[in-house]
Amino acid sequence: MSAPLHVVLVGSGPAGFYAAAALLAAGEPEVRVDVIERLPTPWGLVRSGVAPDHPKIKSVADTFAQIAAHERFRWYGNVHLGRDVTREELLQRYDAVVYALGAQTDRRLGVPGEELAGSVAATDVVGWYNGHPDYSDLTLLLDGARAVVVGNGNVALDVARMLCTDVAELNRTDTADHALDVLAASAVREVLVVGRRGPAQAAFTTLELRELGDLAGVDVVVEPAGVLDVPEDELPRAVRRNLDALRDLAARPPTPGARRLVFRFLRSPVELRGDGHVQQVVLGCNHLVPDETGRFLARDTGEREVVDAALVVRSVGYLGVPVEGLPFDPVAGHIPHEQGQVVGHEREYVVGWIKRGPTGVIGTNKKDARETVQRLLADLAGEGARDTGVDRPERLEQWLRGKQPELVSDLGWQAIDEVERRAGHRQGRPRVKLVRTRDLLAAMRDHDHR
Ligand SMILES: Cc1cc2nc3c(=O)[nH]c(=O)nc-3n(C[C@H](O)[C@H](O)[C@H](O)COP(=O)(O)OP(=O)(O)OC[C@H]3O[C@@H](n4cnc5c(N)ncnc54)[C@H](O)[C@@H]3O)c2cc1C
Repeated sequence: MSAPLHVVLVGSGPAGFYAAAALLAAGEPEVRVDVIERLPTPWGLVRSGVAPDHPKIKSVADTFAQIAAHERFRWYGNVHLGRDVTREELLQRYDAVVYALGAQTDRRLGVPGEELAGSVAATDVVGWYNGHPDYSDLTLLLDGARAVVVGNGNVALDVARMLCTDVAELNRTDTADHALDVLAASAVREVLVVGRRGPAQAAFTTLELRELGDLAGVDVVVEPAGVLDVPEDELPRAVRRNLDALRDLAARPPTPGARRLVFRFLRSPVELRGDGHVQQVVLGCNHLVPDETGRFLARDTGEREVVDAALVVRSVGYLGVPVEGLPFDPVAGHIPHEQGQVVGHEREYVVGWIKRGPTGVIGTNKKDARETVQRLLADLAGEGARDTGVDRPERLEQWLRGKQPELVSDLGWQAIDEVERRAGHRQGRPRVKLVRTRDLLAAMRDHDHR
């Protein structure tokens, strides 16, 4: 039997775990998988992106826990590529490096006033209500009657739903405690979801739209009038289902005193106004013009509407962050690759959102990871494990601890997980999240000292 290959994955979201599963399933030579993760917690956007009121979707983490239990898998948290370790150091120690970094930042609107207080990226809001340590100190002022969410994808819907949902419902979820406090005191009565094109071009999925009908105390409104009257013969089935879902929602009788979730189509924010803080959003009105491929583009009619709003959430896309020394496509926001192999870089691979850009659901990353792993195994076939002469498994952990003394091991994460679940159990919630790195590390240390 040949010596095992040693592969390090950087990032432990869905793409990292699916890549690990594919690597661990390889026959000959066997693969040992180490994962390094910048946070003290695994699961990427399953923990810090997927909305807390979608616990079923978050339960995919059970599958990840099974993968993590494999004897050839090890996970190390609180290790940041670029801060604690470098690419070169990883390449010296491993046969291959797989980047599973996701898309860590957001796209900008590029309009005047975007920097005002009260204008925030969906990445921040989502991280805030999900207890991501980077966003725990975000101050989200919900003291105005109207919030505007810019974007027509599922992330925009998640944010709009979280802002509208009765906090009594959220109290049963793993929404971060600081967010529950702010949401409980929220003055928001209307959330305007703004899309530059029409309902037939929106990227929502039907399930997420239909679910809005179950929100207690929330009326859904679709504007402008007539926007749902579109000829449907040529439209794909998924789009027709979306239009039906929107018609059903819009046909419901209004409930006195209800919050309103308003879809305002064919509008683009052109300016945010306010004295230090957002007070108004200027919306440009659009009409649709087909391009040569038949795709409909939004064109400004020159008309303007001004709406009062104290909060604007920009949900126009996540964006990958470059890795020093690797190529990067700044427009698509991903690392260029061939079947997952980083262009021009032997032994370096990508999976998930940093490979494809920020599209696709959790399951999409499985097939995507398989493609990369197939390429990796084919590239390394016959070469066998490289004799790096530096470190082998037992010494790698020691090396990592030298780089990051507050390393979180699998066991450290299990200790954190137990503390969070126990606290959740007492309150009838899946978990109560620890939202600061120092508290996460303290939970790990307490366990180590027991
Ligand atoms: C708000 C939101 C809601 C979503 N809801 C759903 C849903 O309901 N259902 C669904 O199927 N899909 C949903 N998705 C899509 C799904 O989350 C993605 O398809 C998936 O998470 C992408 O996986 P990934 O591993 O590429 O990225 P991520 O999940 O982002 O994982 C990347 C990991 O890399 C780590 N990392 C980043 N940089 C470094 C570094 N320098 N060093 C070490 N580690 C690093 C990060 O901390 C993170 O853990 C949602 C996405 C978003 C944004």
